[in-house]
Amino acid sequence: MTFEFEKDTKINLWGDRKPSIGRIVHYVSYGTPGGEFTSECRAAIITEVGTGRFVLKNLAGEVIVDEPEENPWTVSLCVLNPTGQFFNVGVPHNEDSHKGGTWHWPERVD
Ligand SMILES: [Zn+2]
Repeated sequence: MTFEFEKDTKINLWGDRKPSIGRIVHYVSYGTPGGEFTSECRAAIITEVGTGRFVLKNLAGEVIVDEPEENPWTVSLCVLNPTGQFFNVGVPHNEDSHKGGTWHWPERVD
């Protein structure tokens, strides 16, 4: 199946599924560089929405700007690991690449 879109067309396959407090999503854990732990989906409960930060660094890596930024797709999470839980603030949304440290809606399982 092939889809063609005009450049810069934004498609939201998740419709109006904006995050809200109390919803359960997936948090992608970070894997370890040595591969002892792989990056995995973990269940997480949204505890806050719109908690993003706008951070700008110069080439030396120094932070020039670091201020709160309202983004309804950036959330705080209570992440439920099999052996414990932890809390995370300002988690960005990433539905496609499942990068470590991001959240997405749980995949459909047939
Ligand atoms: Zn997932």
